[in-house]
Parts: sequence; structure tokens; C-alpha cells
Amino acid sequence: AVQVNILAKHFGPTQVLRDVHFTVARGETVALVGPSGIGKSTVLRIVSGLDTRFDGHVQRPGTMAMVFQEPTLLPWRSARQNLTLIHDGLTEAQADAALDRVGLGGRGDAFPRALSLGQQRRLALARAFAGRPEMLIMDEPFVSLDPELAEQMLSLTEELITEARPATIFVTHARAEADRLASRVLDLRGTPATLSPHLI
Ligand code: ATP
Ligand code: MG
Repeated sequence: AVQVNILAKHFGPTQVLRDVHFTVARGETVALVGPSGIGKSTVLRIVSGLDTRFDGHVQRPGTMAMVFQEPTLLPWRSARQNLTLIHDGLTEAQADAALDRVGLGGRGDAFPRALSLGQQRRLALARAFAGRPEMLIMDEPFVSLDPELAEQMLSLTEELITEARPATIFVTHARAEADRLASRVLDLRGTPATLSPHLI
């Protein structure tokens, strides 16, 4: 399980988070919502360990994967190497199976730039799940995709989550995505003075 206890987070003199407390069990998916600038990405950076400068405590399991808006792939490595170089001990056969799973079977030798945007994003998804993460963090993973690709990514993510059952926290602005993927919605709305997430 992921256990998040953020007492306070400041950027310089400005407090952006106060009393954000929640737990996500294995197999559970939480959607983090709220208006732009409220602190959603900041919460994800703290939860993932990228930002350690806050008051509070986060307990996270051993293996974690992150998916961002933009696929962050190794540009001069093949699709297959984008998996094997990131995951210790992942064999080429296992990488190919993971690529197959997201519809990239046979494209293992391709460089990312030779793949379409949709294929790159599916590659990033395959990479995230290839490590069998106990915890999955996604920051607006389906934005700025055409409707068809967004739907493809959403259903693929749904499938992979159902199989691997990580503790999942994802940020979205789309109510439909939250309703579909999440078992809980965590809303960060509130004035700074009363900022305290309530569960819907
Ligand atoms: P969006 O929906 O637009 O992505 P968000 O909810 O993810 O917004 P954050 O990116 O977490 O919002 O930012 C929360 C607040 O913290 C904002 O007011 C932002 O300006 C501020 N902030 C974020 N990163 C920094 C930084 N590195 N230095 C100073 N202020 C920052
Ligand atoms: Mg954000």
C-alpha cells in the first residue's frame, strides 16, 4: 500500500499543500482531481519521491512506475532497449512480449522517432508495466490525444491495471476517465486555509 501524509509543502514562502492524507491499497485506483494550479502534480512528485522537500511522510512499496503526458523515451535506443535498459533482468523475449501486449509486436527494433505518437505512448505504457510495478503514478496520461487514441490508451491502461493490480494514483481533468478507472476520487479543491482533500 501507499501511505501519504503530507502536512505541508511550500515553494519559497508560498504554501501549496496542507494536510493531504490518503492511503491507496494494492489493486486500488485513485483519481486526483482539482483545478489547475491546486497542487496535483506536486502531490504526485512527492508521492513518487521526486520531491523530498516537504513536511510529512510517504510510505511507498518497492517497485514504482510513472507515466507522464509526454512519453519520456530513450531516443537513441530501440523500442526493445527502452524496456530492457530500464528494467534490470528483463530479457529481450520478455520485452518483446510486453511490446506485443500493447500492439507493438514486430516493432522492437524501431527507434522511438520512427514510431507514431500513439505508438510511442503505448511503448511508454509497456515500459511502465514491464517492471510489474506495485505502484503506478500517472499525470494526465490521456490528455491531448485524439478521441480514438485516448480511448485506445484508456482501455489498454484499464486492462494492464486489472492484470497487474498496482496501487494507482492518477491525475485527470476528465470526469469520464475518473469514473471509468478510479475506485475513488480525491479532490484537492479548497481554499489554502481549508485545504483538505475530501473523498467523493
Ligand atoms: P495543472 O492542473 O495545471 O497541472 P497542478 O494541480 O498540477 O496544476 P502544480 O503543478 O502541482 O499544480 O502546482 C501547484 C502550485 O505550485 C502552483 O501554484 C504552481 O505555480 C506552484 N509550483 C509548482 N512547481 C513550482 C516550483 N518548482 N516553484 C515554484 N512554484 C511551483
Ligand atoms: Mg499538473
